[in-house]
Amino acid sequence: MKSFPQLAVLLCLFTALNTSAQVFNPYYSSVVENVSASNILDDLETFVDFGVKEPGTGAIEDAKNWILERYQTLGYAAIETQDFNVFGQTTTNIIVTKTGSVYPNTFLIIDGHYDTVNGPGANDNGSGTALILELARLLKDVDTEYSIKFIHFSGEEEGLIGSEYYVDNTVIPQNLDIKLVFNIDEVGGVAGMNNNTITCERDESSPNSNNAASAQATQEMANCFGLYSNLQTEISFAYASDYVPFENNGEVITGLYEKNESPYTHSPDDIIENMDPGYVFEVTKGALGSALHFAVAKETLGISENSLASTIVLYPNPSTGKVNIEFNSTSSFNITVTDALGKVVYTTFLASGENLLDLGFLNKGIYYCIIKNDETSVVKKLILH
Ligand SMILES: [Zn+2]
Repeated sequence: MKSFPQLAVLLCLFTALNTSAQVFNPYYSSVVENVSASNILDDLETFVDFGVKEPGTGAIEDAKNWILERYQTLGYAAIETQDFNVFGQTTTNIIVTKTGSVYPNTFLIIDGHYDTVNGPGANDNGSGTALILELARLLKDVDTEYSIKFIHFSGEEEGLIGSEYYVDNTVIPQNLDIKLVFNIDEVGGVAGMNNNTITCERDESSPNSNNAASAQATQEMANCFGLYSNLQTEISFAYASDYVPFENNGEVITGLYEKNESPYTHSPDDIIENMDPGYVFEVTKGALGSALHFAVAKETLGISENSLASTIVLYPNPSTGKVNIEFNSTSSFNITVTDALGKVVYTTFLASGENLLDLGFLNKGIYYCIIKNDETSVVKKLILH
């Protein structure tokens, strides 16, 4: 939505990227590495092809059914719909729940609206819709301590009607225990511009009781963008999107919004050609790292990961720089070596058999080797001395 950007310009606070408070998590990175640019583009194209998705139209019903089908295909079982009324038209919120292993009744809400106005809404909010679907795909089998609700709201463009309805009819009567609301609205960037910064939005309005926690969560999210994406961050304040009804109810919120603001939203020109899908890809990586952090994801090795971990031999470790990596497989792997802060310092291709890596150019310290192919991945710690 976002119809008064001049306030954002006025009150923006710039902060330096601070990664010291949080540690790079190689497991989170290995999950983030699976974010697919082509999946995101496919979803954006499908979303745009439905047309103008205003409540009461066939287009928004098609989009609703597509989103529902996507979650069914991903294997989610707890899929709910919530109908409500927008100026005489029935429309629908979509709520999908993934249950946490330690705090099943405490929720990280990851939300964005899927209704559009006057145009197909590639950026506003096809970008957020595609991002959330990609997060749902990659979080499906990740063990998280906290439960996650993926929510696709309708009625946003008419005045946050869907999110207000959800707060009034679900959050308040059920006394829902919400850890954090993580809102994604307009993260498409602008074609032809250098889209290298994401705006991280925190609560700076009343009630004030939840503002400090929002500032903390927003800083942690910005840190995650430093660790898991190549984007710079800028802290600003939350306004005019679906987190507002939660914010007013005292919940802790944070949000993502593009730094280069599209001039095409709410018009027929809000099409993929006028945005930057590569930017959505990077935003998705940072958002996924943030979601893994907020939901407290735990590494559980699947069968293939277990077998890969035991098959790959890396020696000597600790090493002075010359490292052998051996494995026998019909498929090949890529290896990405990162330092303890997650900065990629080396990457190469591994063939089945013996591989000799010369990492003698690196400083002494702890590194992580993320070894992966399309199907599986494993992280090994490497010490250089
Ligand atoms: Zn929007």
